Parts: sequence; C-alpha cells; structure tokens
Amino acid sequence: SNDYRVVVFGAGGVGKSSLVLRFVKGTFRDTYIPTILAIKSNVEAIPIMLVGNKSDETHREVETKDGEDQANRWKCAFMETSAKTNHNVTELFQELLNLDKKRNMSL
Ligand code: GDP
Ligand code: MG
Repeated sequence: SNDYRVVVFGAGGVGKSSLVLRFVKGTFRDTYIPTILAIKSNVEAIPIMLVGNKSDETHREVETKDGEDQANRWKCAFMETSAKTNHNVTELFQELLNLDKKRNMSL
C-alpha cells in the first residue's frame, strides 16, 4: 500500500519535528516547540536510519565517523541531514522507503 508509518526517536531538540516538517511541508521554523512524541514500538525488521541532524551547524557535536560506527553496531544505515538547509531530507525518507521495499522483497 502507499501508507507508511515513520517513527522518529531522539532526544528533545535534535530536530525530529523539523525534519518531518521540512519533508512534509517544505518549511522550517527557528522557534522550538517541544513535542510529546507518543511512541508505539514493536516488531523486528523495521527499516531504521540513524540520523545526524543539524549538519549545517559549524559547531559539530558528533563526528561523522562516530555516527557511522554506531550505525554499524546497530546494523542500520546512517545519514547526516539539515532540516534548515534541506540537506538530505528527501534522501532520508526515500532511503527509508527503499529499505522497506528491500524488506518486502526478502520476505
Ligand atoms: P525535536 O525536539 O527533536 O522535535 O526538535 P525540533 O524539530 O523542535 O527542533 C529543535 C530546535 O532545533 C528548533 O529551534 C529548530 O529550529 C532547530 N533545528 C531543527 N533542525 C535544525 C537543523 O537542521 N539545523 C539547525 N541549525 N537547527 C535546527
Ligand atoms: Mg518535536
């Protein structure tokens, strides 16, 4: 079907809402409105991407290598994004869909 449910995990303020807003509406806001994320988790083999957001920031908190290493440990893909500059946002969600297609084909 064409219905996809994407769950976004992460500490408050890392840019989860901004990434989704950028992808869905193509917009960005500088003000921080905390979201209460209702998380429902279960099952195996859900397509997962580890995302390092705010790649536009000059002060980096996480080295690319550390993100890649963590993704390897978790056996998932890794991508650096910016909701602000729209860097890798479409690619992020597209890759999630690609991962889902691969999963379907391997069933
Ligand atoms: P959430 O708590 O993970 O949902 O984070 P928000 O999406 O609400 O974003 C928290 C703050 O970070 C807001 O002030 C956003 O404007 C800012 N922000 C989000 N994404 C980016 C980004 O890619 N680059 C920069 N520089 N700031 C961002
Ligand atoms: Mg939020």
